[in-house]
Amino acid sequence: MRLASELNADLHSHSTVSDGTLTPRELVLRAARQGVELLALTDHDELGGLAEASACASEIGLDFVPGVEISVTWAGRTVHVVGLGIDATDRALRDGLAGVRSGRTGRARQMAEQLAAAGIDGAFDGALQYVGNPELISRTHFARFLLERGVCRNMREVFSRFLVEGRPGYVPHRWAKLSEAVRWIVGAGGVAVIAHPGRYRLTENELWSLATEFRELGGAGLEVITSNHGMAEARRFAELALEFGFAASRGSDFHGPGESDVELGRVGALPSRLPPVWQRFL
Ligand code: AMP
Ligand code: MN
Ligand code: MN
Ligand code: MN
Repeated sequence: MRLASELNADLHSHSTVSDGTLTPRELVLRAARQGVELLALTDHDELGGLAEASACASEIGLDFVPGVEISVTWAGRTVHVVGLGIDATDRALRDGLAGVRSGRTGRARQMAEQLAAAGIDGAFDGALQYVGNPELISRTHFARFLLERGVCRNMREVFSRFLVEGRPGYVPHRWAKLSEAVRWIVGAGGVAVIAHPGRYRLTENELWSLATEFRELGGAGLEVITSNHGMAEARRFAELALEFGFAASRGSDFHGPGESDVELGRVGALPSRLPPVWQRFL
C-alpha cells in the first residue's frame, strides 16, 4: 500500500493572478502533465484564479485544493502564511485580502522612484507590463523588468542587488498581522500553514516564538518540503513540525517555466514520520 506521504502533492504554486507566468488553467494542465496528484493554487493575497483552476482541474480529473498565500508582517519581518482548503466566497477572507492588496500600487511607485534614483528609469511601467492583475504588482514583476533591461542576469542577482533591504527598490511595507491571516484562513474553513520557514533567516529563538504564537492563534501546518529549502532545512523543519504537532506541507512554490528552478511536483518527498497536511483533503 502506498503511504499518504508518497502522494505527489504540490500545495504551493502561483498563476498570473499574482506573480506567476502561467494562467490558472495553464498551471493546472502543466501540473497534471508533470505527475502532480493533488494541486493547490496559492496566489499571493488573491483568490481570483481559484474558480478557473478548480474548473479546469475537475475537467481533467486532477484533485485540487483552493489556496492562498497571505503576506504578513510579524516582529518587523515579512512572513508568508499559506491557507489551504479555504472557501473562496468567505466574506471576511475576501475583505481582508482586498485590504492587504490595497497598499501594493503605492509601494510599487516608491520602488520605481528608488530605482530611478539609482539610474534605472521607467521601472513602474516596465514592471506593469508583466502584471496580470492590476491589484497585484509585486517585486517579482520588477525583477522581470530588471532582467529584460539587462541590469541583472538572473533572479538571484536581482534579489541580492535590488529589491531587498538595504538595496535600491526596497520599500518596507506593513502587511496583514499574523493573527488576522490565521483568523481569515481558519474562519474560511481552511488550514493555516507557515510557508517556506527557511526563507526568513530566523534564529532558533525567533523560530520558536513564531511557531508558538502561530499555534496559539490556531495555525496548524508547516511547510517542510519546498524549493526554498535544502536538505538541512528540511530536516530542521521536520523536527519543528513534530515538536509543535504541526501537519507537514510540501510545495514547489512554482512561478513559471524557465523562472522557477524547480518544476511542479518535483520537490523531495515528505518524510514518512510526518503527518501530511493533505490527509484532510483526500
Ligand atoms: P512581494 O510580495 O511584492 O514582496 O514579492 C515577493 C515575491 O518576490 C515572492 O513571492 C517571490 O516570488 C519573489 N522573491 C522574493 N525573494 C526572492 C528571491 N530571493 N528569489 C526569487 N524570487 C524572490
Ligand atoms: Mn511570488
Ligand atoms: Mn512566499
Ligand atoms: Mn509562494
